[in-house]
Amino acid sequence: MYFKAVKHVKLWIRKYLHGLKMADKGKNETNVKNDEGSASGSSSSSTSDFTVEALRRYLAEKLGFLDSEEVEKVKVLDNVSVDGVIDYIKSDKCKNIITMAGAGISTSAGIPDFRSPGSGLYHNLQKYNLPHPQAIFELDFFYDNPKPFFVLAKELYPGSFKPTTCHYFIKLLEEKGCLLRHYTQNIDTLERVAGISDEKLVEAHGTFHRGHCVLCNEEYPLEWMKTQIFDDKIPTCEKCPGVVKPDIVFFGENLPAKFHKSLKVDFPKCDLLIVLGSSLVVQPFASLIDRVPNNVPRLLINREKAGERSGIMSMIGMGSGMDFDSKDNTRDVLWIGDCDEGCQMLADKLGWGDELKKIVEKEHKRIDEETKNASKKTEDAQESKDASKTELEDKKVDEKPHL
Ligand SMILES: [Zn+2]
Repeated sequence: MYFKAVKHVKLWIRKYLHGLKMADKGKNETNVKNDEGSASGSSSSSTSDFTVEALRRYLAEKLGFLDSEEVEKVKVLDNVSVDGVIDYIKSDKCKNIITMAGAGISTSAGIPDFRSPGSGLYHNLQKYNLPHPQAIFELDFFYDNPKPFFVLAKELYPGSFKPTTCHYFIKLLEEKGCLLRHYTQNIDTLERVAGISDEKLVEAHGTFHRGHCVLCNEEYPLEWMKTQIFDDKIPTCEKCPGVVKPDIVFFGENLPAKFHKSLKVDFPKCDLLIVLGSSLVVQPFASLIDRVPNNVPRLLINREKAGERSGIMSMIGMGSGMDFDSKDNTRDVLWIGDCDEGCQMLADKLGWGDELKKIVEKEHKRIDEETKNASKKTEDAQESKDASKTELEDKKVDEKPHL
């Protein structure tokens, strides 16, 4: 009788846990249809999804009802350290690496932080009466006054900066055939300049690479927008009076469809996640780290510790996020320092160190030459413009009636 009752209760709990899992799955699917990843509004829904998932896992683990995939939480790293990760990359088990990048990978390229009150950039924008620096990426403000955005765009425009060692390391991962996808929060397009292919790239917060008319949705390429922006004009559609806005995700806008599509396919089959130069605070990007299977190693290269699980969930030993310091950690590795140094260190240990240095040297030389040629062209064009202006003025003087 007693055993029968226990069996009954166990059966009920198993059904309940299965229900939670299904509900969670259904919710995720619905969320995608409803564009779960708007740049500002999705953090609470993502967090609650992960909380339900964490709760389900915890109960299942304690009660011994783990699914077969979960029972096999095989330890992947022989030792939880950078060297452990290197051995894993060298093994034939690590075929699908996902890299995730934040602003930290572009700092050494000289991309200025416009939010910093000390930067000249922010100071320059003050004359536009911005209510706060972020207003520049707010749609309402943009529709009302697009000028500050294009002033900033001119300062940050792709082509004025060179990709970093870190960008070329990611490109090298692609060349070695082990990059599944690179997810970036950056809008500087340095990944494209470094040659990472479109197929391997997910620009989660959009890109300057293309633009669209805000009224008729006509598409415009980078070069077209660049000419307008560098002439200090507000890019305006050739087919209607609409402003052409680069495809940067503004606050309140949905993240690109490619982001949602790719993450569903990529993260379940990821073998190793490398997070570079991100403080993992901007949602929904930050929560991606929990989308890899629960035994997949995660390496964070950043100037400080980030993305750790926190709050009451961590006190009871569960929850989402990185878990560097617990005794149960079997997969999270932290390397504190600059992204370029971290990536060169990884390349050295993998035996690709010289190759990486050569790529950086060769590509930087190529970009310098291109920039030199481009500025010479502009100078020549300016000179001939000035010359024809002088000619015209001389002519005008000649044509003046003699009094
Ligand atoms: Zn238009």
